Amino acid sequence: MNLKAFPAMVLILVAASSSRADLTVASLSTVTTDLACNVGGMHVKVTAIIRPGIDPHEFEPTTGDVRRVADADLVLYTGKGIEGFLAKLREAAGTKARFVDVGTSIPSLSMTEEGHKVEDPHWWHSVENMKRATRTVADAFGKEDPANAASYEKNAETYLASLDELQRWIRVKLAELPRSKRKLVTSHDALQYFARDYGFTINPVKGISTGEEPSSKHVKEVIGVIHDQDVKAVFLESIENPRAVEQISLETGAKTGGILYSDGLGETEASSYDSMMRHNVSTIVDGLK
Ligand SMILES: [Zn+2]
Repeated sequence: MNLKAFPAMVLILVAASSSRADLTVASLSTVTTDLACNVGGMHVKVTAIIRPGIDPHEFEPTTGDVRRVADADLVLYTGKGIEGFLAKLREAAGTKARFVDVGTSIPSLSMTEEGHKVEDPHWWHSVENMKRATRTVADAFGKEDPANAASYEKNAETYLASLDELQRWIRVKLAELPRSKRKLVTSHDALQYFARDYGFTINPVKGISTGEEPSSKHVKEVIGVIHDQDVKAVFLESIENPRAVEQISLETGAKTGGILYSDGLGETEASSYDSMMRHNVSTIVDGLK
């Protein structure tokens, strides 16, 4: 870059960001925050309600969160039942803002929680699902702010191309891991969509939500699977208490293969959707091969 041109560019960026955004969006997931920034570009101000490191299964909005949601033109959430606080938050905010279920066009996988069949909410671990979500967000922004609809559409196309590039990278990286070694043991059942897309089997130590402790019977079953199938590594999750997985690692001799980001993005590492997926795939492949 030409150094002389640099200060001028900084001035332009400052001017753009200090003017009032056309659309204020509150985001209830770190994944939709990244997506909203990419699709919204300079026209959208994104307020992250659930930030990196916060467990979406157990989240309780503060009064500050309620105020920020009340101030937004649009509210994005990932859906499929993960936001148990949604109805209360909407009522407390008393807002007429449209709540957009970003997962709405994505076919659900199901899972069992405490004996009941429920939707699996962790759809973002599939790049194809993220592409559907990108179109949903671009449509919602265009409907709410028609003057900039073409810009949202263009940003979405750019982002979709980057997701295709990410998908190619994942397939190349996964080719290092034979099908027979694609077995995941993680601390809660968040990677079904990932497993479906890339041919893995999963043995979660817990069920769907992060709140419950695993039963000793279930831990024994997982240990049996690790022995029978010669699983090389078990994985921790960024938001989880590591105890159960560490105990299983100790009892089986399977190493702990590193940390996976399952319920959302990270703060420095894995802080974008793209880097989260690359981090998870690299950690899984390098741990299991
Ligand atoms: Zn989860």
